[in-house]
Amino acid sequence: MASSEFIYELQVCRWVELAWPPDEPADSAYIVARQLGTSRRRWDTVILEVDPVALAARHQFGDRELDSDLLHIARHAPAEWTFYRDALPDPGYPWRYVREAIHRAAARGIVDKRKDGNRIQIKRIGPYPEWMRRLIAIENKPDLDASAARQLAGQLDHDVTTGLADEVWVATQQTDRQVEPALLESLPVEAGILTTDFDDGVDADSANVEWYPTRLSAAAGDIDGDERHSRRLELAERAYGRGWRSYYETMRPDCRFFELRRDGRGLLPWCGAKNCHQSSTVCSGSCDDFQPEPPAWRTRGWPIEGGPGKAIKQLLDERARRENRATTVATDYHR
Ligand code: SF4
Repeated sequence: MASSEFIYELQVCRWVELAWPPDEPADSAYIVARQLGTSRRRWDTVILEVDPVALAARHQFGDRELDSDLLHIARHAPAEWTFYRDALPDPGYPWRYVREAIHRAAARGIVDKRKDGNRIQIKRIGPYPEWMRRLIAIENKPDLDASAARQLAGQLDHDVTTGLADEVWVATQQTDRQVEPALLESLPVEAGILTTDFDDGVDADSANVEWYPTRLSAAAGDIDGDERHSRRLELAERAYGRGWRSYYETMRPDCRFFELRRDGRGLLPWCGAKNCHQSSTVCSGSCDDFQPEPPAWRTRGWPIEGGPGKAIKQLLDERARRENRATTVATDYHR
C-alpha cells in the first residue's frame, strides 16, 4: 500500500512511463510530468503524447522549459533578420518586457539577436515545432471513498467543460471487491478509471483499465481556440522542462537520512530516520529529524563532488533527461 498520495503519485508516473497507453501498442512517444495545470486547476499526472520527430526539433531550444514570454518569441521569430516589433505580434503588454525576454532568449540560444543602429533585430534558430499531439490528465486518488469522489467529480466536470485536456482519467487502488467501488461513484462518464496494485512495486502490469474515457472535444470547451492552443503549449513546455522527477527540489536530498529505494522498476524517496517513504510535505526544512550531510561525505570517497545529496539530484536529473531523449528515438525504449 502506498505511504501517501505523494508516493502514490510517483508510482503512477513511473507506471505511465513503463506502460502507456494501457491495453494498446504504443504508436507515439510520451512525456510524463506531475503537478501541472492552470491557476484554476492542477492535475496530478500529465501525459503528453508527442511526435518524436517534432520533439527532436524542439530539443534545439534546450532542455529547459520556455516560459510564456520565451515561447512567444520562439514561436514568432522570423526566418530573416527583422526589427523585433515588426516580427512579433503585439503581446498585449509593454514592449519593454518583450525586449527583456529577447535578451533572455538570446542568452539561452533560443533566438539570434543583433543591433541595427539602436534597433534590435531578431532571427529564429529554427521553426518552433508542433511537437505535442495530445494532452492527457490523471487524477490520483488511492483511497477513492464517496467524499473524495464527490470532490473529484467537480474537478473532472471542470476539465470536461474547459476541454483543455484531450482525455482525463482517475487512478485509484485496486480493491478485492467484485465491482470496483470507483465504478459506483458518481464520476463523470467521460473520465477513464484505472485501478492499480503497487504492493509488489511498480511494474508495467501494475494497473488495469476499468473504464475507458471519452475523448474531450475542444469545440465543446469554453476557451477559444487560440487561447486553448497557447495554454496547452505552455503546459507542454512545463512538462518538458520539469518531468516528474523534479520532486527533489521541494524535498531535502541534502539530509543525511534521504535515500532512494528501489520499488519494483521504480525508485522512491526513503527516509532512514523515519523508516518509511516520506512525503514531500514532511521532508522539508521544518522536519525535526533533519540532519545535514556530514561535511566529510562531500569531500572523501564520494565520486561526485558534493556528496550523496548532490548525487541523488544528478541521478534524478539524468533519468529525466534520458526519458525525454529516449522518446525521440524509440517509443518502447523502457519496456
Ligand atoms: S529526516 Fe526529515 S528531512 Fe531528513 S530525509 Fe527524513 S523526512 Fe527528509
